[in-house]
Order: sequence, then C-alpha cells, then structure tokens
Amino acid sequence: MQNQFQTPNSKLLILMMGPPGAGKGTQAAELIKKFSIPQISTGDMFRAAVKEGTELGKKAKACMDAGTLVPDEVTVGIVRERLAKDDCKNGFILDGFPRTVEQADALSKILEELEMKLTRVLNIHVPAEDLIERAVGRRICKTCGATYHVKFNPTKSEGICDKCGGELYQRADDNEETMKTRLTTYENSTRPLIEYYQKVGIYTEVDGRQPINKVTEDLVNVLSSVKN
Ligand code: ADP
Ligand code: AMP
Repeated sequence: MQNQFQTPNSKLLILMMGPPGAGKGTQAAELIKKFSIPQISTGDMFRAAVKEGTELGKKAKACMDAGTLVPDEVTVGIVRERLAKDDCKNGFILDGFPRTVEQADALSKILEELEMKLTRVLNIHVPAEDLIERAVGRRICKTCGATYHVKFNPTKSEGICDKCGGELYQRADDNEETMKTRLTTYENSTRPLIEYYQKVGIYTEVDGRQPINKVTEDLVNVLSSVKN
C-alpha cells in the first residue's frame, strides 16, 4: 500500500484546517493565486447547493442553519466527485474538509484510489475568544465570493466588493448563537484531527492572530520548504 502522506515532487495537496472563522477561506484564496490550484471548500459547495435548491442543498440546509455537521456520507460523496475532476490533477487546497475522523479516513481512501499524496496539513490557530467576532463581522461578495470583515478587513465603500463592485452579504450562520454551536461542533468532532495528522508528521500550525498578509507569508514559507 502506498503511503498517502509522503511529499510529492510537484503537486501540492493541502488541507487547510482550523476552527470556524480562523481564516481558512481567506488564506486559501491567496494560496490558489500563488500556486494555481483550485480551492475546494465543502462549505461553499453546500451554500451553492442550498441556493440552487438541489437535493444536496435540502439535505445540508438544516445542519448548516443549526451549526452542526452535514452527515459524513453526504459530505464524502461530494468531495469524492470533486477530486476526480480534471482541474484537481495538479493539486488542490481542501478548505473545511475533513472535519471528522471518519471523513479523514475516507479522504485517505479517495487519495489512494487517485494515486495522490497529501503534502501538508496547515492549521490556522486562533483562540476561541476571537472567533465569534470574526464570524459575526464576516461579509461575503454575492458576485465573486471575496471575503471581508467589517473591522479587520473592511471594503473601501461599505457593502460593496473592492474587487468586482458586487453587493456584500452576511451568512445566515454567522450569528453569535449558531457560532457557539459551530465552535462546540469543532471541539467535539474536528479538533481530534490535529492529533490524527500530527501522528503522521505532516501537520504544521501557524499563528492566525497575525495580520492576513503575515499569515499568508507564514503559510507560503511552510509550503516552499516542503515542496522541493
Ligand atoms: P474560515 O474560512 O476559517 O471560516 P474566513 O477566511 O472566512 O474563515 O475568515 C473569517 C473572518 O475573519 C472574515 O471576515 C475574514 O475577513 C476575517 N479574517 C481572516 N483572517 C484574519 C486575520 N488574520 N485577522 C483578522 N481577521 C481575519
Ligand atoms: P464553512 O463554510 O466551512 O464554515 O461551513 C459551513 C457549514 O457547512 C458547516 O457549519 C457545516 O454545517 C457544513 N459543512 C462544511 N464542511 C463540512 C464538512 N466537511 N462536514 C460536514 N459539514 C460541513
């Protein structure tokens, strides 16, 4: 059996981990520009499905609204399909998946089938007390999906995306009450993955309390040192 955790010579297969609001999406958006690989966010995929009113969207909506996890078999199914697509052949960044040990085991099987190996698990560490403010202040562009924060990363003109002029919106689950459940869900189901990936020696943590560009710099430095 191949070892899924070895460093490949050229492809970058990155897992972006961290609690809700840590900055995974913000950092993934920077890294995909730098490394020309796709960002695969299960949260974005579920939100798109909810918007389109598909069967998947119907299954996901109640869990998302409650701040709990969409069932593993549903989530693993969409990731399996997505990773088999052509644009993933040269690498990808997984953002928000896996979130349970069962999902991590399933990912390991999917990668084995695809004959791919994870390069690095990057965990963005932000203390719990900062996360509610981060999520409640998050704003997203309806048109291009760019992420802002009313205080930490504001747009030049209130409510209008700097990049494309689109209108900003606030996610339904970015309220204090749902965030509390999402943080508990993280502690119970997702935090164990830190030890899971530490054990296989591909885990790196960066300090997510730094300014956005400094976090990006740290992540790029980690990846540059493991890529070659
Ligand atoms: P995640 O994908 O982990 O849920 P996001 O990338 O959407 O998190 O970031 C959550 C919120 O915090 C957004 O409003 C984002 O603009 C803001 N943010 C991201 N990184 C930082 C940072 N280093 N410092 C302050 N705010 C940040
Ligand atoms: P995110 O955009 O990553 O904050 O995810 C938003 C919501 O989508 C979560 O609170 C979950 O309900 C659901 N979700 C996203 N990714 C997963 C996953 N890997 N497993 C289960 N549910 C997920």
